[in-house]
Amino acid sequence: MSSQQPQIIILMGRSGCGKGTQAKLLQKEFGFDCLGSGDLLRTIAKRNDFSGQKLRKILGKGERVQAAFMFSVWSEEVRNMKNKPDLKGLILDGNPRALLEAKLMDDIFNWVEWTKIKVILLTISDQEAFNRLTKRRICKKCGRLIPWVGQFKDLKKCDKCGGQLISRPDDKPAVIRARLDFYNKDVQPAVDYYHKQGKLVKVNGQQSIEDVYRAVKKIVE
Ligand SMILES: [Zn+2]
Repeated sequence: MSSQQPQIIILMGRSGCGKGTQAKLLQKEFGFDCLGSGDLLRTIAKRNDFSGQKLRKILGKGERVQAAFMFSVWSEEVRNMKNKPDLKGLILDGNPRALLEAKLMDDIFNWVEWTKIKVILLTISDQEAFNRLTKRRICKKCGRLIPWVGQFKDLKKCDKCGGQLISRPDDKPAVIRARLDFYNKDVQPAVDYYHKQGKLVKVNGQQSIEDVYRAVKKIVE
């Protein structure tokens, strides 16, 4: 069991703000672990018990998983991490996504006595998020995701393999609109909650990936 406190970094922001990219950069440079719900839920969804089957249905429909269930998953994962001797830090990328989840997450961190918590909000406007999500493309040949940011906006062909770039089938404007509305309605109260606790630091997410990372790194170090 580690006696040193791990640094907890909670990355928040609208879909398309670049949370995932920044999380990967932090993981690579600082050797932090990541608490992501996607992988955890997909693992459980493979089981053939009641929860596995139910999760498959919920994920298949693109619906949200209830906070109490998420809590049970996160809490087990964090308690396991507590026993890791060399845990340097932990990144939460895109979670919590609601006020109740943020409060439950606080309870989990209280339990394991981790107090070094920073919440980084990558700010992008609603319109910028909408553009990034509806205009990003994917390479037909190698599957590389081409974000709608900076120099990538003008790419005519895949910069890795020269393949044709097409829009993603799940990036339909109505679906994207629903995701962004969800942020404004459900995630924003969680952001406000962290702000009131004095844990929130804002970073302008409309800069280049490098400039965003430079600002994020300053907060982490
Ligand atoms: Zn390609």
